[in-house]
Amino acid sequence: MKEIATSNRTREIIRKHGFTFKKSLGQNFLIDGNVLDQIIAAAGLDETRGALEVGPGIGSLTERLAKSAGKVTAVEIDRRLIPILKDVLAPYEHVSIVQSDILKTDLHALWQEHFTGLAGVSVVANLPYYVTTPIIMKLLEDKLPIENIVVMVQKEVALRMSAKPGGKDYGSLSIAVQYYCEPELVCIVPGKAFIPEPNVDSAVIRLKRRPEPAVSVPDEEKFFRVVQTSFAQRRKTLANNLSALSGKERKAELGDLLREIGVQPERRAETLSLEEFAAVCEALTRSGM
Ligand code: SAM
Repeated sequence: MKEIATSNRTREIIRKHGFTFKKSLGQNFLIDGNVLDQIIAAAGLDETRGALEVGPGIGSLTERLAKSAGKVTAVEIDRRLIPILKDVLAPYEHVSIVQSDILKTDLHALWQEHFTGLAGVSVVANLPYYVTTPIIMKLLEDKLPIENIVVMVQKEVALRMSAKPGGKDYGSLSIAVQYYCEPELVCIVPGKAFIPEPNVDSAVIRLKRRPEPAVSVPDEEKFFRVVQTSFAQRRKTLANNLSALSGKERKAELGDLLREIGVQPERRAETLSLEEFAAVCEALTRSGM
């Protein structure tokens, strides 16, 4: 049987089941086998490893994952897709389909039920673009034992996740992702690789989980609050943004504190490295700000 990720087979499955696309669920199905080759190669799977897929659609990526991994679990929110997935993936006994909203799923429980005993698990997905960032943040913050996250996202989101300090793409998403992972851009994907065609370019990015976070901080919640506050108004200086945490009356003290750790208060947040943000967080915590 021809693989699902072709224009003909995708149209045939959609017609057979009378399926209609829901734009509100970010439904753009991949029909390019070469892109799938690159996703699968980046995921580094084998029969001792598992894959969690978010949003399997009609199963084009799921089918490839089934051929490369020892266990595949795919979480799909749209009930109408469940019978289609059960039908097209019937030959693969090691594939489980779970009907659920990934953002409301207890991933620790899912891990225990589906992935116990495997050498490693990666998240591999063509993500729905309307919830890309919340999904990535949930995967990272839930602190699951994930090896790699290989995902198709909007190109500009991939650029933001992998951005280095000094440019307009660098912001709190870059820092959150790079705190937990090493990002690597795998490929840029044009709209014609999907049905229906999205009106933005996409990109596949690989986030390799670090064994330990990139920097050590006294309190993670505080670290991310400091980062968010620093970027609150991008054109403002670091000291101006951070005075929201120190209080206006301690702004001069805040300036001295930043100078002491070698960070000029006039700098903008987009120029600070992760190490500098960690030092700022440590200094603010020490001074009770
Ligand atoms: N993996 C398929 C492919 O590559 O052709 C479909 C990808 S499509 C971009 C995104 C999929 O995510 C859709 O099937 C959509 O129904 C599903 N989805 C959207 N929101 C979701 C959520 N919150 N939880 C789980 N699945 C979701």
